[in-house]
Amino acid sequence: MEEGKTAVGIDLGGTKAIIALVGEDGEVRFSRRIEVGDKPSPEEITAMLSDGVKGVLGEAGMTAEQVAGFGVGAAGEIMQDEGILTYSPNFDWHDVPLADMLQKSTGLKAVLENDVNAGAYGEWLFGAGRGTRNLVAIFPGTGIGGGFVFDGKLYSGSAGFAAEIGHIIFRFGGEMCGCGRRGHFEAYAGGAGIAARFQAAVESGRMTSLLTRLGGQPKNVKATDIYSAALEGDTLCSELWNDAEEALKTLALNLAVALDPDVIVFGGGIVDNAPDIIGPIADFVKKNSLDGVASHIRIVRAELGENAVAIGAAALGGGFGADKTERM
Ligand SMILES: [Zn+2]
Repeated sequence: MEEGKTAVGIDLGGTKAIIALVGEDGEVRFSRRIEVGDKPSPEEITAMLSDGVKGVLGEAGMTAEQVAGFGVGAAGEIMQDEGILTYSPNFDWHDVPLADMLQKSTGLKAVLENDVNAGAYGEWLFGAGRGTRNLVAIFPGTGIGGGFVFDGKLYSGSAGFAAEIGHIIFRFGGEMCGCGRRGHFEAYAGGAGIAARFQAAVESGRMTSLLTRLGGQPKNVKATDIYSAALEGDTLCSELWNDAEEALKTLALNLAVALDPDVIVFGGGIVDNAPDIIGPIADFVKKNSLDGVASHIRIVRAELGENAVAIGAAALGGGFGADKTERM
């Protein structure tokens, strides 16, 4: 176990957390997946994550002093410098000093980052963006997360809130978004938004073959059900899925033209469960962006799978990839 540096990375999602010991080569040496339960308190999460960290270190036969760093990627709004989770939509937390709490209970200094930012860094360093300078990550899951790596550095904005790409406007005055504002991309191509649109359509009397499969309960719907029903030709589901695909095409194109990255990496549940989605998005971006952008940009799937956030968080915590930044 003495080959190269290792760091601990955590992916703190809405229902589960992944705790991983990651090598400087990006390989996960040991990991644990835990269910976090419904609306846990900050103290409960801290206890669960600390147990997980101790467990993973125990399996590796290592002490806290032997790891190069500790990073946590959490869904929500983060102030990186202060290590504060200012808002967690999953847990309904406000202004939780999570980095401090974890440091006290694990003995490891924690770097706190937005989950998709961490995933974007992981993909840049070890995944689909290896060897590039500039990467944009678009991760449609329950919502739509984004991440920007410019010149090998994660770009967080002036106050830490950059890359909230799900909350850019797709349709002026359009559907209500989970954030309480209208017309955002997330309302059309995030899993929760797609499901909410399906439920509203059924309640307004629209017919769909999917309803029987859901036992007459539109609330049970998942975006993947809508994708499958759309492939089978269901009219309502086809309309909703087309809107989702249009939203993702538009979002990718707008970011491509605005930022001229080397690569746009798509991950997240919506894309992971739709095998045919990347080709049409890539074609659309190439056809509709300026020639200079179209000539080189690549639109690809994420490669690190469900460990992307934990790997990226570990890399940020451990300072992995900092040498690559300096060469740029
Ligand atoms: Zn929004």
